[in-house]
Amino acid sequence: MGKVFLVGAGPGDPELLTVKAARTLAAADVVLHDVLVTREILELVSPKARIIDVGKRCGQKLLTQEEINSYLIHAAAQNSVVVRLKSGDPLVFGRAGEEIEALKNAGVDFEIVSGITSALAAAAAAHVSLTDRRLASQVLFTTAHRKGGAVELDWVSAIGPTTTVAVYMPGGTYAELAQALAAGGLDPRTPCVIVSAAAQESQQMHWTDIAGLRSFRGIAAPALLIIGWVAHPKAEIISEHICNELQVRIADEQRIAS
Ligand code: SAH
Repeated sequence: MGKVFLVGAGPGDPELLTVKAARTLAAADVVLHDVLVTREILELVSPKARIIDVGKRCGQKLLTQEEINSYLIHAAAQNSVVVRLKSGDPLVFGRAGEEIEALKNAGVDFEIVSGITSALAAAAAAHVSLTDRRLASQVLFTTAHRKGGAVELDWVSAIGPTTTVAVYMPGGTYAELAQALAAGGLDPRTPCVIVSAAAQESQQMHWTDIAGLRSFRGIAAPALLIIGWVAHPKAEIISEHICNELQVRIADEQRIAS
């Protein structure tokens, strides 16, 4: 009986793979990968390995999740190293839960090899310190994926001005996002940066704010949106914002004390 490795491919640059991920790819007998895994990463797969693209193409799924689960189980019975390769980290918006459950139920040995999730790669590309202690006390990894006709934004009520938000799969939802964030009480001047193809040659960035998101037309996929004061490109504006916040806090404290 072989072993299944759930491997994170990171954002696309092979230099951002973990050493363990690269070693596992080089030893693989079978690799099942998602569509976002880049060609440069697939070039590191052992030449003897069978490579299967299980991702979505033009909205059409090549393999269903159930088919992937049962393929992994059968492949582990016939091969020693079976790799399930996912972009970023396998445990972040990667449907790993279903695969872990299926492997556990089937008694298949497996291991998870972490990767750099795209929120971190996008933050690095845009020089954003996600938890800058002067501005943010938490980070939310969330999504604005459209399900049916509606965008699911049930997290908006849980965030405040000191939350940095990383939105996966934001494509086509910018206007709805902007509206929901402003309606939820966030300052429309809160900075945003959208990073497309982070850590890849075609990387692009667009800086705006919540008000500007309303009319943002989008950027090439895959893209990730970071919202929060930490995402302002100009250090002096960030400093000014910190001073203003401090003055408001001092005034509040003085009002309460008197
Ligand atoms: N497991 C992945 C997420 C898969 S969901 C991870 O940890 O990153 C797919 C979404 O990930 C895309 O819609 C996009 O929002 C984001 N994404 C993946 N690769 C990206 C990249 N190189 N640059 C920007 N966003 C990326």
